[in-house]
Amino acid sequence: MRCDRKATAVNEVLVPGVAAQTKNSENPGFLDEMKPITELNETETWIFDLDNTLYPASSGLMAEVSSRMTLFVAETLGVASDTALVEQKRMFREHGTTLRGLMNDHEVDPDEFMAFVHTVDYTRVDRSPRLATVLSNLPGRKIVYTNASVAHAESVLDRLGVRDAFAGIFDVAAADYIPKPHPPSYAILATEHGVDPVHSVMVEDIAPNLAPAAEMGMTTLWVRHDSEPNPYWATPDGEADYVHHETDDLLAWLENVVKQA
Ligand SMILES: [Mg+2]
Repeated sequence: MRCDRKATAVNEVLVPGVAAQTKNSENPGFLDEMKPITELNETETWIFDLDNTLYPASSGLMAEVSSRMTLFVAETLGVASDTALVEQKRMFREHGTTLRGLMNDHEVDPDEFMAFVHTVDYTRVDRSPRLATVLSNLPGRKIVYTNASVAHAESVLDRLGVRDAFAGIFDVAAADYIPKPHPPSYAILATEHGVDPVHSVMVEDIAPNLAPAAEMGMTTLWVRHDSEPNPYWATPDGEADYVHHETDDLLAWLENVVKQA
C-alpha cells in the first residue's frame, strides 16, 4: 500500500529540500527492503524511461505523439478520429501500447508505425544543461528503457543534450516488441545489458511500469507529471508497493543523490 503523502515521509529527513517521496508509515517492514537515498549513490545501473521522465510532460511532445497515433489508427482502420481514439485507448489498455495492439490485432509494420508517430516537433524539448550535469556526476551506468524506438530516443536525447550520458538505449524492438509493463521485456533488458536488478534503480513516469522492476529486486522511483492532475494511467494503483521513491522534480531528486556521495 502506498503511503498518504500527508503521512510521515521518511526520506524527507534524509533529503532536505525535496518534496515528500517515500513510503510507508503503515508498513515499516517495507522500509527495511528499500534503499535510503544515502545508498543510492552506490547504484550500478540507472534505468531511465524516456518520455515524460527525462523531459517534462508539459512540453506537449507526447501529446503530439498520441495525436499522431490516433491519426495512424484512423487511417489504418479507415475510421473517423473519435472511433480511432476509442480503439487506441482499448489497445493501450489491453496490450500495454497502441503499437502492440496494432501488431496483434491489425498486423501493422512496427517500423512504419514508429516513423509515422514520431514525425513530431522535437523543438518542444528544451536543452537541459542541468540534467547533463547531474547525469555526469551521478555514479553508475545509465541506460534508457523506452517503449518507443531508438530513433525517437536519440532525437529526444540530442535535444536535451544528454546523449553521451547514456551507455545504451533499450527500445521496444530490442525487447522483441514486448512493451513495458510485460515482465519478459524487463528480463530481456537485464540479459542484454547485464543488469543486476538488486544494484539497479528504475525511473519512470508511468508508475505501473515499475511493478515488474520492483518484483525483480530493483529500487524504483516514480516521477510524477508536472501537469495536474497526474493522468490515472500513470498513477500507482491502490495496493502499489512497487513505488519505493516518488518525486515531482527528477533533477532535484538526482542532485540530492549526488550530494550524498
Ligand atoms: Mg514515460
